[in-house]
Amino acid sequence: MHGGERFAGLGPWARQLGDAAEEAAGLRVTLPLLDMPVHLRWLERRLAAAGGTVERRTVTGFGQAAAEAPAVVNCTGLGARELVPDAGMRPVRGQLTVVENPGIDEWFTRADPASSTTTYFFPQPGGLVLGGTADVDDRRTEPDPRTAQEIVARCARVRPEIAGARIIGHRVGLRPARDGGVRVEAGPLPGGGRLVHNYGHGGAGVTVAWGCAREAARLVG
Ligand SMILES: Cc1cc2nc3c(=O)[nH]c(=O)nc-3n(C[C@H](O)[C@H](O)[C@H](O)COP(=O)(O)OP(=O)(O)OC[C@H]3O[C@@H](n4cnc5c(N)ncnc54)[C@H](O)[C@@H]3O)c2cc1C
Repeated sequence: MHGGERFAGLGPWARQLGDAAEEAAGLRVTLPLLDMPVHLRWLERRLAAAGGTVERRTVTGFGQAAAEAPAVVNCTGLGARELVPDAGMRPVRGQLTVVENPGIDEWFTRADPASSTTTYFFPQPGGLVLGGTADVDDRRTEPDPRTAQEIVARCARVRPEIAGARIIGHRVGLRPARDGGVRVEAGPLPGGGRLVHNYGHGGAGVTVAWGCAREAARLVG
């Protein structure tokens, strides 16, 4: 359920979504929902099956990457601020609270136009994920207990059974936002190769990942 949303607010494409229906409380529709740890493991297996490998190292300059490959795709998110450098990159902090699921099997989201908060809950295999916040230029990666209480209270106003659910975890992440939006663009690599930037996806990087990856692959050539 997308609380308070109408077809008119989204545009004609929304009517084409499978079973989307406008109700008094908002739009109800069945959509895919990702459990990120599972999704990332699946992506890594897919990469390995295609012959790819993962190495964890810090890149301090594109010259370092250019020494190893004729084409480099820069997907460094917030790291692009120093690496590119791109002063338009900024963190947008998001905090989530995970509770034991009191029996909720439907997702809910509703934006509050008067603040940077969104009220949402997503049933996941590891619990019910409650959200959320979006604080620009806030780099704190520790969960804030007061914010967690506020998240639970907001969600409980929609589904009262959430108020008594046991808290089993907190999640904090920094969305890699960019002034001017996502950058998918090709340029020269030091030494003559090709550098393809693919960063700045903010709060929608999972949603737009396949489209951006296709465009980046096209630019690699
Ligand atoms: C609370 C929260 C909720 C969200 N919900 C959604 C959602 O519902 N839907 C959605 O689509 N998106 C959501 N997002 C956003 C999504 O997580 C991001 O857009 C996405 O992860 C960005 O992916 P990325 O690969 O571009 O950057 P990142 O995931 O930030 O990855 C960048 C990587 O580059 C590495 N790196 C950086 N600098 C260097 C360097 N110099 N050398 C080597 N490695 C480097 C970093 O270590 C990191 O691993 C959410 C984010 C948060 C925080």
